[in-house]
Amino acid sequence: MAINEIHHSFVGAYYFMSLMSRRIKWILLCLLLVGCGSQESPNHGYGYSYDEQGETGIRVRYLDDTSPRLAFVEQMYRETMTCANVAAPGPLVIFVPPGSIKDADNINVNGKTYLDTGTILIDNDSCINGVLCKTPAFQGHVMKHEDVHWLLHWSGKLTEDQQFAHAAPEFITCTNVSLP
Ligand SMILES: [Zn+2]
Repeated sequence: MAINEIHHSFVGAYYFMSLMSRRIKWILLCLLLVGCGSQESPNHGYGYSYDEQGETGIRVRYLDDTSPRLAFVEQMYRETMTCANVAAPGPLVIFVPPGSIKDADNINVNGKTYLDTGTILIDNDSCINGVLCKTPAFQGHVMKHEDVHWLLHWSGKLTEDQQFAHAAPEFITCTNVSLP
């Protein structure tokens, strides 16, 4: 694992079926492409495509119709920028199959930020041990946590070691989500 992979600390539920179905789709796609697999795909294997882009530059790639929409994702980003007092180009936010984000110990986590490419992975369900799944308050919290990683990297406030240690008050003070 590269040192610039910062994972979220919440352990999620395991959803291997969804992960497997995505892998099967990839295998089928590979069968149709000449030379598939001969090149490493860019951006840690996730590529750079997106479905929608917001005014902040944030780009969102949905997993399916249940993924949080651009307006909410960008609202979380704006609030985190204001709280952290950092303005930075919006990251690429990718909603990935539930249970597919692993940390260095192969433990499921709900989010991960690639600092080098400004890419944030968010588990599409965002659960804590099978509860709070798909609740906007918790999904928003996961997004804001990863946004803090990105913004404090962009501003130069934290070193990579400090990122791993979550050595900044913004991880607490900027990640609450209040919903109507
Ligand atoms: Zn984190």
